[in-house]
This record gives sequence, C-alpha cells and structure tokens, in this order.
Amino acid sequence: MNEKITEYQTDVLIVGSGGSGLRCAIELCDQGIKDILVIGKCKLGEAHTKEAEGGINAALGNVDKEDNWLWHVKDTLSESGYLANGKQAELVCKNMIPDIQELQTMGVPFNQTKNGKINQRQFGGQTFNRTCFVGDYTGKAILETLVKQVQKRKIKNLENIYVTQLLASKGKISGIFGLDFESGQFVQIQAKIVVLATGGYTRVYKTASSDQFVNTGDSIWLALNAGLELKDMELVQFHPTGMVWPEEAQGKLITEGVRSEGGYLTNSKGERFMQKYDSERMELSTRDRVARANFFEIRTGNTTPHGGVWLDITHRTPEYIDERLPKMIQQFKQYGNVDIKTEKMEVAPTAHYSMGGIVIQPETGETKIKGLYAIGEATAGLHGGNRLGGNSLAEIIVWGKLAGKDIAKKVKKFKQIKVNSKIVQNEIERIQNLFSGTKSNPVVLRTELQKLMWNHAGVVKNEKDLQKGLTELAILKELTKNAKIKTGLKNNLELITVLDLEAQLATSECILKSALARKESRGAHYREDFLKTKKEWLVNLICRQDLKGKIKLTKKKVVKPSAEVLKFLKKIKEKYGEWKN
Ligand SMILES: Cc1cc2nc3c(=O)[nH]c(=O)nc-3n(C[C@H](O)[C@H](O)[C@H](O)COP(=O)(O)OP(=O)(O)OC[C@H]3O[C@@H](n4cnc5c(N)ncnc54)[C@H](O)[C@@H]3O)c2cc1C
Repeated sequence: MNEKITEYQTDVLIVGSGGSGLRCAIELCDQGIKDILVIGKCKLGEAHTKEAEGGINAALGNVDKEDNWLWHVKDTLSESGYLANGKQAELVCKNMIPDIQELQTMGVPFNQTKNGKINQRQFGGQTFNRTCFVGDYTGKAILETLVKQVQKRKIKNLENIYVTQLLASKGKISGIFGLDFESGQFVQIQAKIVVLATGGYTRVYKTASSDQFVNTGDSIWLALNAGLELKDMELVQFHPTGMVWPEEAQGKLITEGVRSEGGYLTNSKGERFMQKYDSERMELSTRDRVARANFFEIRTGNTTPHGGVWLDITHRTPEYIDERLPKMIQQFKQYGNVDIKTEKMEVAPTAHYSMGGIVIQPETGETKIKGLYAIGEATAGLHGGNRLGGNSLAEIIVWGKLAGKDIAKKVKKFKQIKVNSKIVQNEIERIQNLFSGTKSNPVVLRTELQKLMWNHAGVVKNEKDLQKGLTELAILKELTKNAKIKTGLKNNLELITVLDLEAQLATSECILKSALARKESRGAHYREDFLKTKKEWLVNLICRQDLKGKIKLTKKKVVKPSAEVLKFLKKIKEKYGEWKN
C-alpha cells in the first residue's frame, strides 16, 4: 500500500482534549503563544474529563476554617501510603487555591454557600470539607467551560486523530505519527514541543467507570516505545461504587458524593457492614478500604439480587437529593428505571483511576525527552498508592497551567527537529502488517484481556493469580499478532480495536509485573499473600522497556516533601498521634 500522509506543522502540539490538555492550551495562549494545535482521538468536549462527578479539591477553608494547603498535603500523602512525590503534592495543594478561583472566573458555576462562597463537601480520607463541586457533574461543567475558553481564543483543534507513535530521536521530540480514522489518512504532525495529555488506563479491566473507547493505556504504549520511564504501574484505584446492572451500565460510577451526602452501605442481611471494616469513618473511609469491604461482602455471598451490595440515600429528602445528586437520579432512571429517592442502589467495585503513569519533572511536567511534556492522568507521582477523591481534577488543572507556563518560556528558543523518516516508514509498515492476520477476532481478544485483568489483577491480588495472568497474557499477545481485521484505514473499528488492544496488552504487562514485584499491601495495592505494609517497600517502582522490548523494573526512592511540610506533619503527629491510612 502506498498511503498518502497528511502533514501538519505547529509550534506546540497538545495530544488530548481533556481537562489537562485544554487548560494547557489556554495558558499557552494567554502567555502569548499562538501556534498551538490540540488533537484528540475523540471529539472536542467528549473527553473523559466530562464524566467526573463529585468534585475538585482546593483547601479554601470556606466550610471548615481550619483547612489549609498543609492539611491538604497531609491528606494526599497519607492516602497515598506515603508513595506520593512530596513536591508534586505540595505544588497541587498550594496552586489549587488560586486556580479554583480562576476556574470560577472562567465560568465554572460552582455550588455556593449561603454567604456566596464556593461550597465544599467532604470526600473520603479528607480531614475537612474540601471538595468544591457543581452538583454531581463537576467534570462536565469544567470541560464545557474550558471548551468555551479554547473556542473564544480560536485555538486550532483536530478531532478523530489516533496517535500511534511519538517521533523522537536522540532524546529530542520532533512530532507525532498517527491516523485520521475519519478520512482514513495517515497523519504526521511536526512540532517543536509535544504535550501528552492522553489520560489513564483503567479500561484494561472488564468493569471500569470509563467507557470502552477511552483509558486504553495509549499514554503507556507511546511512552514505553519512546523509551520513557513509567512509575507505580501496579497502583490502580478501584472505586467502591459502580453500577451492577443492567449489563450495559455495569461499572458506571456512582459518585462518592452519595456517601458524602449521607448514603450508607448495607448487605443482603441488612447489616451496615462498614462497622466491621472501619467503625470510625464508616462509609467515608478511604476508597481502598470501602472497595475491599464491598468486595469481601460480595465474595462472602452477602449480595443483592444482581450480585452487589446496597447503597441507600432514601433517608434524605427528595428536595435534597434533587439539589445534590441530579446526575445520579437521571443515571438510575435511564439504566434500570430505579428511583434513588425511594429505592436503594445496587453497587460493586469498579476500576476507576490509574495512579501509575509517565514520570515527569514535578515543577513543569517535562519528561526525559527534550520538548516532550506529560500532564494529567497520563502521569504518575501525585497519588502514590491511592488517590484522594477530587485530587485528579485538581491535578489536571494545576499541571495544565504549569506546563503551559513553562512551555511558553521555552518554545521560542526551540528549533524544529527534523523528523526521522525511517521511524515514519517503520510505523506505516507496522500498521499495514496488522492487516495480514488470519485468525483471532480482536473484540473477543479485548474481552478476554479485560476479564483476565479483572480476575487476576483486581481489587485483591496474590502471587498465583498474577503469575497465571502473565501466562495467559503471553498467549493473548501471540493471538493478537494474528488478529483478523478488514482492510482499509477509513472508519475501521476493527483496526482501532487492535491499536487499542496493543496498548492495553503493554499496559497490562506493566501492571501484572509490577504488582507481582510489590510484595506488600499498601493503599489500593492489596496482596492477600502479603498483608502487611513493609518499610522496605516505601519505594516507587520504575518500569521501562529495554531495547529488546522486555519490561524492566527498578526501585527508586520516594521524593520527600519540603522541610515546611515535614515540620507540619511532625506537629500534627505529636498533637493527634499516628494516622490511620
Ligand atoms: C466516572 C468518573 C468520575 C470521576 N470523578 C472525578 C471527580 O469527581 N473528581 C476528580 O478529581 N476526578 C474524577 N475522576 C477522574 C478524572 O475525571 C480524570 O482523571 C481526569 O478527567 C483526566 O483528565 P485528562 O485530561 O488527564 O484526560 P482525559 O479527560 O481522559 O482526556 C484524554 C484525551 O486524550 C485523548 N487521547 C487518548 N489517547 C489518544 C491517542 N492515542 N491519540 C490521540 N488522542 C488520544 C482522548 O481523546 C482525550 O481527548 C473521575 C473519573 C471517572 C471515570
């Protein structure tokens, strides 16, 4: 095949039109950079950020006056099992205070207190009411506002571009290669600077809170092939409350907002079972504890008719539920015709967030490749062993802006690096070879992989299951090489499935190998064969691909917070004693 390549050139290319990518584009423009192009494999306004429900953290102290950024750092670090990068935690907690006001000024309609300040609710694992919210559709409100701001600034945007390879040589970025799957043409975009804002990887699991076509681990695939380091790939957050039925809604998120508004969990015997797992914090315990509690109740057989546990908010008045949880009312009405004002919800754990990802410079988001940045859920560092609810939206806003500022300072001094045509030729051949398979059905392979990951690397892990997962993964990898797909690049869903599958396989291998290596339990990483948290495992696991394509793991010291934060942590430990998480 002698396919045509459509070529573009830009100073700054942002891959990903979610919250992090758009916030970065806005900052660049406001700093005077005009030659910016934002691309995504979905449509503008459709990125996964729109799914976020419960809220975004900023230690404003509007509801609880004692709150401040130091408490926010403390909660972030303790929730992370002390695996979070201290610098990254400090940056997000300090910057969110002005950044949330800026979001409001841009037009995000945050719910307000009676005296006109941004209202804040309490999320699990947080000492204070700190999570700012727009009902239960915070992500949608933020993304819509950012889209309007991008359009107001006339920032260029291309939709339906699937990036399959980063173009980098000798440690410097020169652009990307990919496929415009609507027109069916290959695309090469030359850029002085590339920002990866490509999201997470929870869709390697059967039950996940994102939809089927996002969070397929593209960030991980692109980073591994470019020789970048990944961190903490074993650390995946399972949210306690995903929908259980009907099948098409399985895994869909039920916001933590339901529990923070007073919702409680019961099993088939009517027991409020959190009493057994965390009698002090009950339903507002940390996400990992509540997810495991739900998992164990289900495994014991104390289940609802469709195999979950109950979540009940019916003791709140209908008016209150209308005001605070409108999206949940609509979601349960649409799927299953359940009225949450009068009926209980059936819930079970769902894969929700990838704490692992690309290693970045904390202050800027830059990677080890010159001119290549990574921001948002594609990166690692802020959340360590477990993410605080509301900290991810904070992360995408803070690093969108930090990266934008840094790039604006540097881009004028950067020269366009010549694209290595050999890499482009190899990538075209690689994609064309995908059409030579004769056997397996890619959709079946994807389902098998997702089942494998759910069964062998899910909420509760052990050595035997993880080893079995790796053996089965090797078989799926071989079968994928011979996946049968129809020819043609235009709107070819089978081709997209294989491209996704390659990323999902690479990501799953990193998760399985890292989870096998971490012989302890910490945060969301729960090994039933190594129940204790171990001092010698207070390290980050670095994962990279060697020249032969093998995944290699090394340990790295966790970056500590500043002296100011350490002093604060010592003070509160002396005052309140040891923390639970
Ligand atoms: C149901 C749900 C509820 C949530 N609720 C909250 C909450 O209340 N509070 C909170 O803090 N966090 C929440 N989160 C997490 C949060 O929404 C995400 O972590 C965050 O929005 C990620 O933003 P992002 O910009 O990094 O990536 P995304 O919004 O996922 O955007 C990724 C972009 O990259 C593009 N892309 C991906 N791969 C490619 C490729 N190969 N080529 C080209 N483009 C590509 C996509 O098209 C998309 O435009 C929630 C998550 C879910 C699933």
